[in-house]
Amino acid sequence: MLKKVGLHIRWNDRILDVPEQAEKLDLNSFQCFITCQTTGKIASPCQKDIVLFNKLSEKFNRRYAHCSYWVNLAKKLRSGTRMLEKEINAAEKLGFTHLILHPGSFKGSASKEEAAKLFARRLNPILKNLDSIKIVLENIAHGSENLGGEISDFKLIFEHIKYPEKIEVCLDTAHAHVYGYDLLSDEGFSNFLREVKKNIGISKIALIHLNDTFEARGSKIDKHCGLGLGELGYECLNKIIQNPLLQNIPLLLELPVLEPEEEKEILKRVRGFLNKE
Ligand SMILES: [Zn+2]
Repeated sequence: MLKKVGLHIRWNDRILDVPEQAEKLDLNSFQCFITCQTTGKIASPCQKDIVLFNKLSEKFNRRYAHCSYWVNLAKKLRSGTRMLEKEINAAEKLGFTHLILHPGSFKGSASKEEAAKLFARRLNPILKNLDSIKIVLENIAHGSENLGGEISDFKLIFEHIKYPEKIEVCLDTAHAHVYGYDLLSDEGFSNFLREVKKNIGISKIALIHLNDTFEARGSKIDKHCGLGLGELGYECLNKIIQNPLLQNIPLLLELPVLEPEEEKEILKRVRGFLNKE
């Protein structure tokens, strides 16, 4: 069977555009924000559209909702916990299978340990009530007063999670690079994988966000570019997805706004890598 990839899809007024677009691009999964990033409004489709969204989506085995960036569960004040609950509620109605969450800022907490505890304390009651959707924690680009840039942060979080079976992890290649991990050299990449094995475990990795960036390693700047064009380049990205430990993990691209033709070309290139004998 041909290996396929997923893509983050933008929507404006109509979240129904997302599965329609995913179908056109022959994807096996899709991801979108559950809160419209232009209007700031959470998706609230009518009952008819909910049914239609579920119907259009059922052929995609994984449907990722991406949480808004203003949810930072480890932040002392304005953590966005209520917002997260609302987004999960909407995502469940729409039949999403996963919700991607950045651990994010811990402004106001004295230490990472304290922040990880607070993060878990806010997430645990939410996890308790979850049944149809998994929470996927993603590594992030940022460093100071942020959780989830350092791979070992996930271990700190997991220590306080009461329902570990409801949580998985997503590795974002561009975030790892700008955070400071060396994915380019073979030795650096082996060290990165060792960190992942030690602190998360490969079996917990549910998804790879296969992304590239023009920003330098260690810059902590979260800005994606067209795949293959950035600091990582196709050679490094291909090495990552072909690695025996990672090769069965689903892939999803988060591209910047590109011409439709460019987007198709990138998807074709990645599929080419995946399906090379
Ligand atoms: Zn990502």
